Amino acid sequence: MSRSGPEPSRIIRDSIQSSAGLLGIEHYAIATRSALKPFLETLPPEAQEKYGLIGSGALVAAALAFDEGPPPPFPLEEGQPHAAIARFARANWYGELRDRLEAMAGMARSDLVAAGLLPGRRRSWRRLVNSGLPERAIALAAGLGRIGRSGLLLVPGAGPGVVLGLLMIPQAAWGEADDSPGLPADSPERLPGATCGDCRACVEACPTDALDGEHFDRQRCIQNWASRAQDLPPAVEAAWGSRLYGCDACTEACPLFSAHSPVAPTQGLLGPALPARELSMASDEELRSRFKGTTIGQAWIEAEALRRNARLVLRGSFDAGGGIP
Ligand code: SF4
Ligand code: SF4
Repeated sequence: MSRSGPEPSRIIRDSIQSSAGLLGIEHYAIATRSALKPFLETLPPEAQEKYGLIGSGALVAAALAFDEGPPPPFPLEEGQPHAAIARFARANWYGELRDRLEAMAGMARSDLVAAGLLPGRRRSWRRLVNSGLPERAIALAAGLGRIGRSGLLLVPGAGPGVVLGLLMIPQAAWGEADDSPGLPADSPERLPGATCGDCRACVEACPTDALDGEHFDRQRCIQNWASRAQDLPPAVEAAWGSRLYGCDACTEACPLFSAHSPVAPTQGLLGPALPARELSMASDEELRSRFKGTTIGQAWIEAEALRRNARLVLRGSFDAGGGIP
């Protein structure tokens, strides 16, 4: 049976373009299967199956820029040590993006139905945010940005200060169209730092030398250790400072970083810091309850790691002359 009218992929593209504006998703790119091919070749079939890549005709890679985040939910006591929360965790930006991608999927499905087309099963329009998939590599393949010397995705207009998410578009809805080949697998633009020029601001700002301009040493990265309770490498412990969770140093140093977000977050509001002493003594249950629904409430973040981080803040405050913690 033949049908006249626009191809389903065109309807989906038009729908996403208009919903992205309404939903505050300023940065997105659509990747078809051929654009993703170099990436998919590196991913085991079981992982492709697990995350819904097998049955997808295309996907949307989206970035939501974060800013300073909300103010503290209650006034922070002066003279008390406070444990800092990195920008990306001051609100649940991931949850904000997940909900927007869900709304985007709903609008695309409605537009397909209005055009007399089948949208495929609702659950096959999967949203993946902060998932186990290498979302940064997919966003690169989709053309959403380039990888900086910091290892972060640099999104034009937003820089590295974004959270990333994906929306799978089922093959049944998308059809066979495959009209954007994406960034070639051997393109030099895939290399970290390809668009950084002479800049080395992130390398210079990193307090632990986790960046050397060409490589990223995860074992020296503060962010990598923030959720793990194991003994810290000495360089990481020495540079810990007042952090409870996350490290903003390489993000904030980047000249492309723009502390502007198109949305005022409403989910998981934590603000920039919390009292370190209280956190250092909190039980697992108290921490679970305190951080439920926030970025710090993710299941893989160990309660003992948070207490250890808070203790380091107290120790740093004492060493700096802040008195007995
Ligand atoms: S997050 Fe912090 S420790 Fe990790 S690479 Fe960036 S600046 Fe270095
Ligand atoms: S700080 Fe400079 S070198 Fe680092 S990612 Fe940003 S532009 Fe690239």
